[in-house]
This record gives sequence, C-alpha cells and structure tokens, in this order.
Amino acid sequence: MSVDCTFCDIVSGVIPTEHLASDPFGVVVADIHPQAPTHLLIIPKLHIRSLAEVTEAEWPTIGRVLGLAARAAHACGLDQSGYRTVINSGLNAGQTVDHLHIHLLAGRPMLWPPG
Ligand code: 5GP
Ligand code: ZN
Repeated sequence: MSVDCTFCDIVSGVIPTEHLASDPFGVVVADIHPQAPTHLLIIPKLHIRSLAEVTEAEWPTIGRVLGLAARAAHACGLDQSGYRTVINSGLNAGQTVDHLHIHLLAGRPMLWPPG
C-alpha cells in the first residue's frame, strides 16, 4: 500500500467503490470514465507503479491478476464477442494512475492500431 494512491485507496476501501470481483491478488472495478460499454479495471492489491517496475518476485502476482481479468471477462459473458485488455505504462502510453492496472474494454468493435 502506498500513501496518496487512488488505486490503493480503492483496494482498501478508503475510496468507496464496488468491487465487482476480487481474489487474494486483485480487485475488479468499473472505470469511472468508461471508454466502451464495458470498461473494467483489474487492479493488483500490491502497489506496483507500472509494468516497467515489476520485480522478479512480483511476476506471479501479475499472472494471477491477468487470470482475474480473464475470469471477469468470462463472468460478463465476453468470451464469444471478444474484449481488449490494455496496460498503459508510462508517459507515451498515457498512464495517469501510477499503480499498475489492466483495462478490460468490450461491447463495441475495437480499432487497430490504437490511437
Ligand atoms: P491509465 O490512464 O493510468 O491507464 O488509467 C487510469 C484509469 O483509471 C482511467 O481510465 C480513469 O478513468 C480511471 N480512474 C481514475 N480515477 C478513478 C477512480 O477514482 N475510480 C475509478 N473507478 N476509476 C478511476
Ligand atoms: Zn497504489
């Protein structure tokens, strides 16, 4: 847990946000500014600033959080229609919250290449 981190506060409940799903490694919440009909955030409980800062010991946690994303997509019935998962890392990617998270977007066709 890190002070002054929005996502640590969402994980701990300091910022009241419905946890749509959770496991020992992460929580799933709806994005506050959805960019698609379904826009979920899968947030590791561990405060890791970005994919660029994951340590060797933390990789298993990232794998478990990716698994949580797949289970959330399955629970939302998205396996057939498809969905996009995104991890923004750093400035050029547009990361705005410095606590690693996976975006799960679905409910409309996604463009490629992304903007
Ligand atoms: P990033 O730009 O870092 O990849 O994504 C951060 C995401 O977190 C954005 O899509 C933004 O809308 C979302 N977000 C920021 N603050 C909050 C919040 O307090 N609650 C929720 N549910 N989402 C947030
Ligand atoms: Zn944090």
